Amino acid sequence: MEYIKLAEAYSELENTSKRLHKTFIISQLLKETSEEDLEHIIMLLQGRVFTDADDREIGVAAKLVLKAISVSTGFSISNIEKMWKEIGDLGEVAEKLCGKKTQNTLFSSDLDIKEVFSNLQKLASLEGMGSVDQKVKLISKLLTSAKPLEAKYVVRTVLQDLRVGVAEGTLRDAIAWAYLPGILPNYDLDTNQINPENREEYNFQVEAVQSALNKINDFSKVAITAKKGIEELNKIKIVVGKPLKVMLAQKVLNVVEAFETVGKPAVLEFKYDGFRMQIHKFEDKVTIFTRRLEEVTNQFPEVEDFVLNNVSADSCILDCEAAGFDSKTGKYTPFQSISQRIKRKYDIEKMAKDFPVELNIFDIIYFNGEDLLSTPFKERRAIIERIVKEEEKKIVLSKKIISSSEEEAQEFFDESISLGNEGLMFKNLEGVYKPGSRVGYMIKLKDVQDPLDVVILGGEWGQGKRSGWVTSLTIGILSNDGFLEIGHVGTGLKEKPEEGLSFGEITELLRPNILEEKGRELVVKPSVVISIEYEEIQKSPGYSSGFALRFPRVKLLRSDRRSDEITTLEEVEDLFYNQKKS
Ligand code: ATP
Repeated sequence: MEYIKLAEAYSELENTSKRLHKTFIISQLLKETSEEDLEHIIMLLQGRVFTDADDREIGVAAKLVLKAISVSTGFSISNIEKMWKEIGDLGEVAEKLCGKKTQNTLFSSDLDIKEVFSNLQKLASLEGMGSVDQKVKLISKLLTSAKPLEAKYVVRTVLQDLRVGVAEGTLRDAIAWAYLPGILPNYDLDTNQINPENREEYNFQVEAVQSALNKINDFSKVAITAKKGIEELNKIKIVVGKPLKVMLAQKVLNVVEAFETVGKPAVLEFKYDGFRMQIHKFEDKVTIFTRRLEEVTNQFPEVEDFVLNNVSADSCILDCEAAGFDSKTGKYTPFQSISQRIKRKYDIEKMAKDFPVELNIFDIIYFNGEDLLSTPFKERRAIIERIVKEEEKKIVLSKKIISSSEEEAQEFFDESISLGNEGLMFKNLEGVYKPGSRVGYMIKLKDVQDPLDVVILGGEWGQGKRSGWVTSLTIGILSNDGFLEIGHVGTGLKEKPEEGLSFGEITELLRPNILEEKGRELVVKPSVVISIEYEEIQKSPGYSSGFALRFPRVKLLRSDRRSDEITTLEEVEDLFYNQKKS
């Protein structure tokens, strides 16, 4: 398929905020897409060229794209920079300038989807000496062939900032509309409604796509299978070794609210302050994924051994929390202390010794060939109780009680806190496992005021001895309309890297994500997530969220968190009103 078809769809998507309309646009495009192009189209619609499980990144800074636009259009860098400052979007700049290309370079060939996709993937593989020039060459080659609209979206995709607003739920629905019978003709573009007579059928078919996505977290594969029909879709199975999204927990403020949400009696478990591991075992092969579905098996060799030695299953997928502990006192240590193990590539054995973890297993979603997603929690828990041989400070089940009593719950909560844990989890005995969802089957109750997880949206270049570093960070939370600012923060970051998360480290993380610079101020692609402690949430018309934080302070880097997993506006509103009550 020609890339222009996708570019036109992007443009239509950008011009509507109506979810059903977006679904309709995508479903039309999918209908026209050949099986061969489907995988690429689905990825490109999400603005990506690598799956979650693939840790490669395009990794091209805006400055390089600027150069490539200059090479392909003949305009000077300073001119392009000036336009960029005025327009604020390098994609639009490329669109405008490509329209002014001289005749002899005008659209030297038509871009096709496959070519764009493979060239974008190639960008990630260019490393080392001369790679900067090669990257510029590759992008400018694409831009030379691009029509103006294509240039806009090539640039935005390279910068990983597509801005067309395709949420996962929209893509899921579009797959159902495109391939499962009877849905599409009932969408009315004028009224932007679906014929209610078909509601049931509609829900059923969307559910079939969702259920497949729950089992294999791969939109492309699901789309390809859906194209073959609903029977094929229903045959999709969990594949051990391929990560699934994890189920998330809703938050409550006290034990009364916790029971109200999950019902009585409920399973109460310690909430360990470690990091989540989804562990796949197939015979003697163990694969470990983080909650972002990145593979970290090599970083945790001891965990691999614990599973091989203590879990009796031919195959299984376990949901666990790896909690760090002090090897001398045995006391749990905060997440921060073990977080450095996640990205570590060398001295693995030493790290395992210095920062030991205890694996706390709290759920199982697959056992000996059987998918347990629809199995009630109490039965899933019974399976782990049967198959795990516990060994203290190595591999244990999360400590639990079953209770209907608020008093007992409060005592268990206090015990958990006194041992250095974060609080309690409350779980519905009959709850099923919903990957990727924050349904009310699993609730968290924490002790201290929870830090907010925010994304960095921009910052300011420092001055004096802090020059060369990004200092005051602009931070944002998530809303249905994208990211909204909630303040600025610099406190908490250190000048010396040995003292903790430093200005230098944050600057290096932000550098490849810089989208715009105006004087000392910069705007970055929202991708770096940090946790912020604060005194209080205040109303503030000065920030787009309508809220500000009093005395914000950077607590830690959340490299285990994606920007779509941060604190939401809804959560901030709840926190604001609840702090008023108390
Ligand atoms: P938080 O930042 O509060 O840990 P989160 O956003 O990482 O929350 P949530 O799903 O909201 O994730 O909260 C549940 C998290 O608590 C799980 O992701 C898991 O990592 C951790 N956890 C610790 N102990 C347990 C337990 N016994 N059962 C389930 N999750 C647990």
